[in-house]
Amino acid sequence: MRAMQTLILKPGRDKSMRRRHPWVFSGAVKQVQGAPAPGETIEIRSADGQFLALAAYSPASQIVARVWAWEKRTIDSAFFREKLLQAAARRQSLLGAASTDAVRLVHGESDGLPGIIADRYGETAVVQLLSAGAERWREEIADALLEFPGLVRVWERSDADVRVLEGLMPRTGLLRGTAATAPLTISEHGLKFLVGLETGHKTGFYLDQRDNRLRLRGLAAGRNVLDCFCYSGGFALNALAGGAKSVSAVDSSAEAIALGRRNAELNGLAQPEWIEADVFHQQRKFRDQGRSFDLVVLDPPKFAPTAAHVEKAARAYKDINLLAFRLLAPGGILMTYSCSGGIDAGLLHKIIAGAALDAGVDARIEDWLHAASDHPVALNFPEGEYLKGLICRVA
Ligand code: SAH
Repeated sequence: MRAMQTLILKPGRDKSMRRRHPWVFSGAVKQVQGAPAPGETIEIRSADGQFLALAAYSPASQIVARVWAWEKRTIDSAFFREKLLQAAARRQSLLGAASTDAVRLVHGESDGLPGIIADRYGETAVVQLLSAGAERWREEIADALLEFPGLVRVWERSDADVRVLEGLMPRTGLLRGTAATAPLTISEHGLKFLVGLETGHKTGFYLDQRDNRLRLRGLAAGRNVLDCFCYSGGFALNALAGGAKSVSAVDSSAEAIALGRRNAELNGLAQPEWIEADVFHQQRKFRDQGRSFDLVVLDPPKFAPTAAHVEKAARAYKDINLLAFRLLAPGGILMTYSCSGGIDAGLLHKIIAGAALDAGVDARIEDWLHAASDHPVALNFPEGEYLKGLICRVA
């Protein structure tokens, strides 16, 4: 057998590994011994030669290695099967629950499977392979998913932008099983949603907001609701289900709104006022028209994918939140989110506080919101805490 290829860290650059952070940045590398191929399993060693971890090598990326294991073991199909079973066990209560048939099965680094996302939509698994290591084990991962009870097909949506950083081309399509004959539909807290399997965002649906959509349902009765960045109507339809007086829903994607219309039909709900527009423009239009709302949801896309974008992103978050505060009637509620890895809960709090101040409203935080529990955050991987939200009520 060929000797394991080894990445040696610079002196003093083993600290984050010792805290079990699963990434090796290229700047920390002293030397790579041998010529490992992209995705190949390598040993990570400290400058003085101590074994630290087994990791997948990704020479094209700033994140040059991602850890599979902190101990010496074989990385093979059995490894992926074992990790998937562990991830499923963590979600046992959700998988057995009647509240939904759509669950995130694998949440990347936080499940010890860097670069791998897998969502279960009924009988269909949708997988995203986002790193060279994930790509290397594509077939084994697909096989492991297909063995999962109740799954009959695996669909690939490896078309996220981050693939480029790993030197990988986008790839989508059926990976295992036969294509479904009917459009893919899931159920969440009694509402049905179509999944944009082939061309929808991410894996086709935003599972991370499941609990928060239900939360909104409980706040919506009798209110005029504005859902900004509505995608396929997740919040908007929950507002209707919760007895909202009126619902307006804004998204810049015609395809998202088309899905939203079909979702409203599917549930026998009235159609919200769908508005295909840029939220930044639409909020100003509402302001100029003198329209106001009793509840505004802001669930924008990632404005700051990394720390480098934070300043510009902070201005964008402040802008939409300031306008949202201005659009709120007295006693109104703002439900606001950031899914930017570069913006932590403390910074989001500051941005929202600044927005309220500049909007001239007196508001208080009633709750802090997070992604649903099938999107866990490993304690050794703070980057996993990407989704944060606040419920604010104005005086
Ligand atoms: N709340 C949704 C998910 C929102 S995802 C749910 O629960 O399912 C973010 C959405 O913002 C996407 O649908 C995207 O099309 C939309 N979007 C991105 N930039 C936008 C902009 N400037 N104006 C309006 N919509 C935008």
